[in-house]
Amino acid sequence: MRRNLPFHVLGLSPLCPLCLGGLLLWAASFPSRLLAQPSLPLDGREGRNLLLENFRPHSMLKVSERPLTQARFPVVDVHTHFRHKFRALANELASWVELMDRNRIAVCVSLDGQWGEQFDEHARLLWTQYRDRFAIFANIDWQGSGKPDDPASWDCQRPDFARRVARDLAAAKERGASGVKIFKQFGLEYKNADGSMITIDDPRWDEIWRACGELGLPVLIHVADPAAFFLPIDETNERWEELHRHPEWSFYGPKFPRREALLAAFLRIVKRHSKTIFIGAHVASNAEDLTTVGWWLDEHPNLYVEIASRIAELGRQPFSARHFALKYQDRILFGTDGPWPEERIRLYWRFLETEDESFPYSERPFPPQGFWNIYGIQLPDDVLRKIYNGNAQRVIPGIREKVERYEAAHPAPH
Ligand SMILES: [Zn+2]
Repeated sequence: MRRNLPFHVLGLSPLCPLCLGGLLLWAASFPSRLLAQPSLPLDGREGRNLLLENFRPHSMLKVSERPLTQARFPVVDVHTHFRHKFRALANELASWVELMDRNRIAVCVSLDGQWGEQFDEHARLLWTQYRDRFAIFANIDWQGSGKPDDPASWDCQRPDFARRVARDLAAAKERGASGVKIFKQFGLEYKNADGSMITIDDPRWDEIWRACGELGLPVLIHVADPAAFFLPIDETNERWEELHRHPEWSFYGPKFPRREALLAAFLRIVKRHSKTIFIGAHVASNAEDLTTVGWWLDEHPNLYVEIASRIAELGRQPFSARHFALKYQDRILFGTDGPWPEERIRLYWRFLETEDESFPYSERPFPPQGFWNIYGIQLPDDVLRKIYNGNAQRVIPGIREKVERYEAAHPAPH
């Protein structure tokens, strides 16, 4: 009802949902001004107010700029989605590989392998022509033939589930899987038969994590989300604009576990399964607090992190991010969460390799993940090499061979 109020009161024709929140923010001043001139755009001109979404400040800063068109060393992108963000057209893949060549991306790891025949189908898409350029992580089928809205019918509720998954993971490895990706719905959405949320550290899954360690399959796991997604969507939320566009990304309220509880459960399985390698997606979902992530890395030698979709967070704290990258240079992997437009991919090179100041972290004019710019952290070559490919070669099976073949086919210009 609160959302409909401005239209109702003002008699406006329907506005796009994006407009609505800006209107609400502005609502404090609406009675006198808007009622008088309801049709004028809220563009900030001639004394009018300004909708947040219409704010397009042009920076007046004059500083040196070094936009980069490719990475300095061959890159392994350990976080990509070639099932969920790709339509799988033949020439779409070919042009993506051309983009990889232009940017010096040696290998992309698709995290969308799924399982069984679907894995084979995904492998056919990526490997028929480009076996050396892609690695694939398998996923776990928690639901099986169960009904989506009936958690009691889900396969993961059966007592032998973990044992069967462990067996399937061995088969996935035979099919060529290099690891396992766990999506954030595990912990935030999947339910038990009694309606309670499935917990990440439920001992029922121990056999799965143990099997990953025994098979040498790293577990890339997305737990929780940015801190702001767990807070009320109000005028104090630093990701208000994004959450307003995607209210389904909010995990605020009693329906969801607390973010701290999710991260603590994640760390408990990392601790319990010290022979299994865990890669915390998106800087272990805690890029806002690198000191704490550093403690986690200190405490758990089997934990790694990757930086996909987090240059916005890292780049707004360039001193902390650089310090973190230098200190944990053996524990950080490169990722983007792509495939993305090339302009966005290139911002990753600029962030990691230059000391450029106050530049956008996205090609989109409306910054999609918070209203700020970022700063480059200009990492030294030896650290860049580790983050771009060296750590992935150590941690993910099959990557070393692919990178070596890439380097043989694409000799370094430096
Ligand atoms: Zn992702």
